[in-house]
Amino acid sequence: MNLSTLFAIALERSPDKVALEFSEVAQPGSVETYSYRELYAAVARWAGAFQQMGVQKGDRIAFFLGNRPEFVIAYLAVIRLGAVMVPVNLRYRKREINHILHDCTAKLLLTETAQQPVLDELEADNLADVERVLLVDSPEEWLGGETVPAPVVVQGEDLALIMYTSGTTGRSKGAMLTHNNVLATVTGLLSAWAWAEEDVILLPLPLFHTHGLMVGLHCALAAGATTRLRPKFDLAETLDVLGSGGATLYFAVPTIYFRLVERIREMTPKPDFSRMRLFCSGSAPLPAETHNEFEQLTGLRILERYGMTETGMNFSNPYAGPRLAGTVGTPLPGVFGRIVDGQGNPVQPGEEGEMLVRGSNVFDGYWRDPEKTAASFSTDAKGIRWFHTGDLARQDPETGYVTLLGRRHELIICGGFNIYPREIEEMLCTFAGVVEAAVVGMAHPEWGEVPAAFLVCDGAVDEEALITYCRGQLASFKLPKRFRYIEALPRNAMGKVQKHLLPRD
Ligand code: AMP
Repeated sequence: MNLSTLFAIALERSPDKVALEFSEVAQPGSVETYSYRELYAAVARWAGAFQQMGVQKGDRIAFFLGNRPEFVIAYLAVIRLGAVMVPVNLRYRKREINHILHDCTAKLLLTETAQQPVLDELEADNLADVERVLLVDSPEEWLGGETVPAPVVVQGEDLALIMYTSGTTGRSKGAMLTHNNVLATVTGLLSAWAWAEEDVILLPLPLFHTHGLMVGLHCALAAGATTRLRPKFDLAETLDVLGSGGATLYFAVPTIYFRLVERIREMTPKPDFSRMRLFCSGSAPLPAETHNEFEQLTGLRILERYGMTETGMNFSNPYAGPRLAGTVGTPLPGVFGRIVDGQGNPVQPGEEGEMLVRGSNVFDGYWRDPEKTAASFSTDAKGIRWFHTGDLARQDPETGYVTLLGRRHELIICGGFNIYPREIEEMLCTFAGVVEAAVVGMAHPEWGEVPAAFLVCDGAVDEEALITYCRGQLASFKLPKRFRYIEALPRNAMGKVQKHLLPRD
């Protein structure tokens, strides 16, 4: 089976049902809707056009696109041809985008007019192997007439996606996900969360990330549900839609729940969420305080789950059963989890260790990087291969639920986006006068964490100029929110920086 075969069930069953509804909050009234029939008619046409441009099975197609119907259409067309979608974080800038385009040797780049300024910079620089840049909002320039794509045999083990993670060395790695990997996550979630055709999901999460794409869009398409896609989170509209029976499902990151709680706290009367079936949270730890206050205010308990780009979804609190704040529950169908010590031996329930996972959901490896792939997996005494998540975890001996404790490699998660300190440190050191840099996560009530930088400089550094420099190099969420100047970085005998000794006040 492949993803297109799974998604085709909804078309066969209810062709006239609304598959996708899109509107920009900034332009009220401009609602676009696609029935399943209309959606897949567009998919066939786009797939035909891509094929005429020479797109073949295995070709990488980069997407630098915001949430919009054309993202969904183009994605479904790409995987129908057995080609591979490479979504690029929309906040990435020249350096980060260039790396991805070069690394995956993308054949086409799909983007939109709104990204023209970023595109201009890229073109001035280098578009790597990209043969064509297609603006999805000007399809008349490239789409051509009705064409029926020639059939392509796409198998479960073929690649569907290469999703770039943030890299600990400053270079992001392309996680290769096959159709089977994605099918495992999607089919697991369909049953674990009781998805139904009647479901309507309000989806403002970015489709370039696993949360919006895998958990939101894929499940909705597979269930034959309706996706109300939005370009971004809008507090007022969210409360309006969810409070008026306009959705049954809502998936978000803790930062969004924090904002909802803040607003609902002030509202009288409180919004009526009685027609909502499920609120989910993931991508970063949901503070127990937010979890509990959300329940007090709305009467509904958020379901927290745990996943990552390389694995899709791993753990979830139960749909029908106690949802415990501060935990990510138990493994999803077909997923196995094991918590191990530094030597790779399983620890006892109640003890801390690194979470390893295995299952059909776990990715194939990093694109053209056998070394990093090998370093991310280990084989146990029975010859079974486990993926090292890098997440520290503990299983409660009584409930069996797992709590995530932190990231082994100092990952900073800001509003659901991953930030690897080393990438920022390396960049800071390229600024004249900066000798050494250490970046750490600083607790933030709204974003969870934000990056803060410690700098060792030879002479005075113009902070304004440094910030402007950073802006040109990094996505905005990676910009350090505070700079501190110190004499020297604390190091251990081996010369390794001891970040826990840096002052956090
Ligand atoms: P990403 O690949 O961007 O989805 O990030 C994956 C990482 O996000 C995981 O390895 C975890 O460190 C973190 N993460 C995801 N879900 C949760 C959660 N529910 N609680 C805590 N951390 C989470």
